[in-house]
Amino acid sequence: MVVKTDVLIIGGGPAGSYLARYLVRNGFNGDVMLIDKKSVIYAPVICGELLPSEDLLKPWINRDLYDVLLTTLRETLRKEFIVNEIGWLRLVINGRDIARMPFRTYVIDKSAMIRGIIEDAINGGANVRFGITAVKCATKNGGYECLVHDKDGGECVISAKTLIGADAYPSIVDLSLGITRGFRAEDLIIATSARARGRYVDDEAVIVMDPGVAPGGFAWIFPRGDGSHNIGVGVRNNIAWRGGNPIDYHALFVSKYGLESTQRSVLMKTLPVGGLLNKYGAGNAYLIGDAVGSVIPTNGAGINPAMITAHLLGESMMLGYDYSSLMNRLFKPLMDRMVMFRRIGDPLLMNRDAMELAVKVSRSYMTSSIYEATLSSMRMSTLIKFLIGDLLIKFISKLS
Ligand SMILES: Cc1cc2nc3c(=O)[nH]c(=O)nc-3n(C[C@H](O)[C@H](O)[C@H](O)COP(=O)(O)OP(=O)(O)OC[C@H]3O[C@@H](n4cnc5c(N)ncnc54)[C@H](O)[C@@H]3O)c2cc1C
Repeated sequence: MVVKTDVLIIGGGPAGSYLARYLVRNGFNGDVMLIDKKSVIYAPVICGELLPSEDLLKPWINRDLYDVLLTTLRETLRKEFIVNEIGWLRLVINGRDIARMPFRTYVIDKSAMIRGIIEDAINGGANVRFGITAVKCATKNGGYECLVHDKDGGECVISAKTLIGADAYPSIVDLSLGITRGFRAEDLIIATSARARGRYVDDEAVIVMDPGVAPGGFAWIFPRGDGSHNIGVGVRNNIAWRGGNPIDYHALFVSKYGLESTQRSVLMKTLPVGGLLNKYGAGNAYLIGDAVGSVIPTNGAGINPAMITAHLLGESMMLGYDYSSLMNRLFKPLMDRMVMFRRIGDPLLMNRDAMELAVKVSRSYMTSSIYEATLSSMRMSTLIKFLIGDLLIKFISKLS
């Protein structure tokens, strides 16, 4: 059986659901179909569920990009999706409290937020199907055909004029059509996600930089306001499996940082932190969200960045703009800068002694650099700080 649609979106996370909503709400002239392999809308959630408040990033990023970010927040983040308001960021390095800095953010119910976006999309006329997995896509007669399986073992072909990979990294659209070069192992994080209890303050998000428990990444504790916390560990892919596996690092984090798991299972997912891929699409096939590498490399935030890419593609499709040009103008400069910061910091993230020495040499310098990188700062002063930091880290690496 062949099902026909004008636009096929594969993946109903922040990127795909936002795009479906955007298109139907803005009067796209054609059928919009969204499929997702999950049988229940966006469950289980593998995420820290932390989102910035409207003002958090305003002083740090470019105005045009901030406007798009603000739009994505205002269109999707309803009050009822916020489970806790955070006021502070506590930075812990190698088990020691290093700093506490202002950080107005929210812990959200991501699943409820995605349901809200998808309901809007359905109400606007999108055809949304869950429990459908795209297995393979190919070009056909100037358009695309995707073979899909349903959860009951059935299969069919969906034919579309425009095809969107919103199915995270690596995207089946990318793999099938060979659009990009993909990421190298060192540009991927394996991240765990679970719930825990522990004596952490309700209005503080805690970031733990400790190469012993999170080599090449960091661990986090995001309080939900009811005594429970979203926790996880991000370990760089090229070392994640070397001396154990990410679940072992997660267990070490839980025991070392006074946490008590409230869930038996720990979930895991791959997160790209290498910046945007070398291409964002080919012909009328496009990649958005994690599928195009939109996660901010310095902090792992990917919910609103995914929506930003969906917004830019939606705008391109509605107004006849070129998606790649729009991405290159508005989003790529920030992503390139953040990859550079991440790469400069890598030697410290990988080596406990080097991290220790760096804090000893200049605690305030380290703290402000990490804080500004967490806020995705595009300021010249942050750039200079990182370039000087680069020299310092090279010097420290020689000593340690
Ligand atoms: C442990 C962890 C913690 C995180 N914490 C945060 C955080 O606190 N804040 C933040 O902003 N970001 C966070 N992120 C990043 C954020 O979750 C992602 O960047 C964001 O969800 C990306 O959205 P997306 O729509 O591109 O992809 P996803 O959210 O991954 O959605 C992709 C969808 O595609 C579907 N799919 C995949 N393959 C197929 C297929 N073949 N056929 C059909 N459907 C398919 C999946 O079922 C899924 O629903 C975290 C990520 C992880 C892994």
